[in-house]
Formats: sequence, structure tokens, C-alpha cells
Amino acid sequence: MSFVDLDRTNDEDELMRKNIRRLAEEVLRPLSIKLDKMKPRDRVAPGSPLFDAIRELKRMGLHRIHLPRENGGLGLTNLQRYMVDEELGWGSLGFATLIGVDAIPLTITALFGSEGIRDEIVKPWIEDTEGKYIGCWGVTEPEHGSDYILAFRDEDVESFGMGNVIIEHDGDEWVINGQKSAWVSAAPVCTHMGLHAQLRDGKSLRDGAFVIVPLNLKGVRKGEPVDMLGNRECPQGPVFFDNVRVPDDYVIAQPPFYELFSDQLLNLTSVNMGAFSVGLARAAFEEALKYARSRIQGGKPLIEHKNIKLKIYEMFERVEAARYYVRKAMDFVYTKFFVDQSFTTPPRYARAAQVYAKKIAFEVAHDALQIFGAYGLSGEFIIEKLFRDARALLIEDGTVEALSLDAADDIARNYGL
Ligand SMILES: Cc1cc2nc3c(=O)[nH]c(=O)nc-3n(C[C@H](O)[C@H](O)[C@H](O)COP(=O)(O)OP(=O)(O)OC[C@H]3O[C@@H](n4cnc5c(N)ncnc54)[C@H](O)[C@@H]3O)c2cc1C
Repeated sequence: MSFVDLDRTNDEDELMRKNIRRLAEEVLRPLSIKLDKMKPRDRVAPGSPLFDAIRELKRMGLHRIHLPRENGGLGLTNLQRYMVDEELGWGSLGFATLIGVDAIPLTITALFGSEGIRDEIVKPWIEDTEGKYIGCWGVTEPEHGSDYILAFRDEDVESFGMGNVIIEHDGDEWVINGQKSAWVSAAPVCTHMGLHAQLRDGKSLRDGAFVIVPLNLKGVRKGEPVDMLGNRECPQGPVFFDNVRVPDDYVIAQPPFYELFSDQLLNLTSVNMGAFSVGLARAAFEEALKYARSRIQGGKPLIEHKNIKLKIYEMFERVEAARYYVRKAMDFVYTKFFVDQSFTTPPRYARAAQVYAKKIAFEVAHDALQIFGAYGLSGEFIIEKLFRDARALLIEDGTVEALSLDAADDIARNYGL
């Protein structure tokens, strides 16, 4: 018997898992290996395998998994959402990230945008089965990385300095100027950005706005895609804004809602990152097990050496524990946000899910590579890529330190005794 789910799943859950697993194994993983070895510019050039992967993800509607059915979503349960994420993370952290950031601006606009903007921007994205519309999430700036994680609780936030992207009202339009950092996932290929920008007269990053920005507007410029250690199948690059004008209703959140909104949005992304991390950890564990069963040293398979057998057990234990905590945290956060429509969910649970699962993914990938010996470093096996991807996880969507500090502030202030 292979994978056993400790939660009670039904036939529909298992059929869905089988379909996503097939996509992950037969399409996403092979394409991710191909893209990993390509140059940054080639990865985003017309005809790149990147677009085959995006088409498959869109064809299966995986950009719509977060939305309730009445808003154009697939109507998945929270357990099914988690299962999709873990399988995607198993197949390719980069593609999981890509379809995750694709969903952010448009899911948010579907939920909080005006009727006009939902018809104009969200509907074509929902109906897209070819990858014509791709979203990204523009938070990090050249001078503000961890600041954006800490801004919503830090009492000294005004000392962080002005944001690098500024938005101001002008008549019945808003004008945007500035630059997002080179780390914006999917930026080189995306069509819409969910942009965080500081208001011109705001005192800190907390006084900001979340804006849906079509990236074909006059004044938007994309920079060169960058090369990274890991997560390479999800291209990254900077975006510049030079007097970009958007109508009033493109601004989806502004003070005082913006602060609550940003905090809760990080809850949603945290549990998704946690699930991707568990998928990556499971992939590394399974690769190590497969290798340990087949590699002969000292006259017998590696798995029969006690130290290796024990390492394999410890990897298994970590993956299993991470899965069920992240799953619980995701159910908690999604129920609060989508069903209860609460904007006061304490951040510590989602942050802990993200931090814990990321650390587990890195530890498991590290131990798995060790089991491969020199082959682990050679690039001949996928474990080397999984290790690099797991390293990127410790920084992506907030460093584990910044996320932990933020959760620690919440615990120190708000944990009731
Ligand atoms: C693969 C990948 C994908 C990404 N995708 C996106 C994306 O789609 N959109 C986007 O906007 N961004 C994205 N990012 C950027 C990511 O969110 C930032 O890299 C991250 O938040 C850290 O910011 P930074 O790199 O500027 O590091 P810094 O904030 O400069 O941190 C450097 C170091 O100092 C520590 N540190 C910083 N501030 C403090 C503090 N106040 N107290 C204590 N320690 C501190 C950090 O923990 C870290 O170890 C991505 C990054 C990666 C690697």
C-alpha cells in the first residue's frame, strides 16, 4: 500500500487527488526540470515549455481553487484545496507558486471589486483555459522586503521609511509611480498585478492600497528576468511604474480596511505556502526512499543500514506531522475568511503553518540529498533541484525569521491566558 491519508477522504477527494497527481507527475515535474536548466530569458520566450505548463494548469481550472463556487470557483472543500496544493508542491514548487500568485490579484478582485471590474477583468480570467491572463503579487520593493511582513504589527513602523511605490489620487483616477523588486514571481509573463502601494500622504507602509493593475497600461515597464538558485520554473523580474493611471475602482483596498486586509491576505498565502512545502518535503522523502532501496553499499541496499533507515523514518515523521498541522491551519483560515467573513483571524496559526512546513521541507530535502551521497550533488537526480527549491522556500513569501517574529508579536500581545 502506498500513500495513506489519515483524514477521512471520500471517492470524490481521491479522484481529484489522482487527477492532480497525474498532472504533477506527467506534466509539471518533467517541464520544471527542463525549465530549471534553461537561461532566464529563454524560460519566458515564446514557445517556452513554461507556457505548456500554464496552459495545463488553467485547463484544469487550478487558478480558481480558492474562490467559492458562487464567485466562479471550483467549489472545492478546504480539504480538497489542501490536497491540490500538496500535489502541486510535490510536482513543482515553481509551478505551484506560479498558479498561487496568479490567483491572488484576481481572487481578491472577484471578492472585493466592483461589478464593472469583475465583468471587465475577473470574468475573462475565470474563463481562461489557455493562459491568456496571468496574475502576480507585487509586494516586495528594493528597500522593503521583511518590512512588508512586519509592518502590520510593528509599533515603530514609521521608521521603516517611505515605500518605493507611491499611489495618489488625481481627479477620478489614481496615479502610480515607483518600482517593485526583481523577486516578483511570474512578473515577466503576467498580465495583471495585485499591487501594494503606499499612499502619497501616508505615514508608513501601513497606509497603503491594494490595486489591480493591468500590466499593459501606459507607463508600466518590466525588467529583465533574473536567475535564482531555486524555484526557477517560476520566472521572476522587476516591474516599474511611471505615472501609471488607473480608475477609482481598480483600488480594491485602502485605509482603514487595507491594514486588516493585508494581514488576512498573508494568512491565506501562508497556509498555501505551507501546503506547497509539505508537497516538496514528501517529494524529497520519496526520492530518498526510492534511492535507498536501490543503491547497494556494504553489500546491501542503503535502506538496510540502520542509520539510513532511521533517517528515512525521521523524514516520514516530519512530513506526516507537517501535513496535518498545515491542513488544520488551512481549514481554520479559509473557514474564517470565506465562510465567517471574519477579518480578525489571529495570524499566529497561519504563520506557524508556513514557517514549520518550510523548515521541514528544507530539513527533509537536506537529509534526502545526504542519502544520495555524491550523486545528490551531481544534478543527475531531481534531489539536487528539490534541495535548491527548499532553500528558496526559507525566503519566499517572507523569510522564516520575519514570519516568526510577526507571529511572536501576535502571541506576546494577544494570546489569552
Ligand atoms: C522564490 C521567491 C519568490 C518570491 N516571490 C515574490 C512575489 O511573488 N512577490 C513579491 O512581492 N515578493 C516575492 N519574493 C520576495 C520575498 O517576499 C522577499 O525576498 C522576502 O520577503 C525577504 O525580503 P528581502 O529579500 O528583501 O530580505 P530582507 O528583508 O532584506 O532580509 C534580509 C535578512 O534580514 C532579516 N531581517 C530583515 N528585517 C528584519 C527585522 N526587522 N528584524 C530581524 N531580522 C530582519 C531577514 O530575515 C533576512 O534573513 C520572492 C522571493 C523568493 C526567493
